[in-house]
Amino acid sequence: MVTPSVFATYPDADALADAAPGDLEALVHSTGFYVAKSRNLMGMARRLADNYDGVVPGGMEDLVSLPGVGRKTANVVRSVALGLPGLPVDTHVGRLARRLDLTQESDPVKVETDLNPMVPAAERGLFSLLLILHGRRVCPSRSPRCEDCVLNDYCPSSIV
Ligand code: SF4
Repeated sequence: MVTPSVFATYPDADALADAAPGDLEALVHSTGFYVAKSRNLMGMARRLADNYDGVVPGGMEDLVSLPGVGRKTANVVRSVALGLPGLPVDTHVGRLARRLDLTQESDPVKVETDLNPMVPAAERGLFSLLLILHGRRVCPSRSPRCEDCVLNDYCPSSIV
């Protein structure tokens, strides 16, 4: 919700890199952790401007070299913004993958490593989004609604 005003105020990497910290903090204040986020946004923009001609790169190693960007965010950028293979693993994806016995890992990178060979490259982003939605709507951490779940015939964790 805050990105339209951020992009309107700072239309490119150079502008964002040179932002006055207090002004950027005010724009992203409602998202929480606004001081650290502002610092990372400015650092990310500086590195984009200095090393990538102001263009967001697509390579995983390039993306995770940007301040504030971890593997989950890099996979979101790859799959949603750039149309590249990327399987973001958040808490929902990890929990669903374990309940469905697709992995026994808890570390998100290891979960991603287990899931990637199971999902065609072009469908990894969608797969992640579907698990996130399923986790939010049907299979939350507490009280999964197995009686309403379309996977309850197959899921080894089903309680019905
Ligand atoms: S059957 Fe239950 S535990 Fe398995 S995915 Fe569905 S809601 Fe989650």
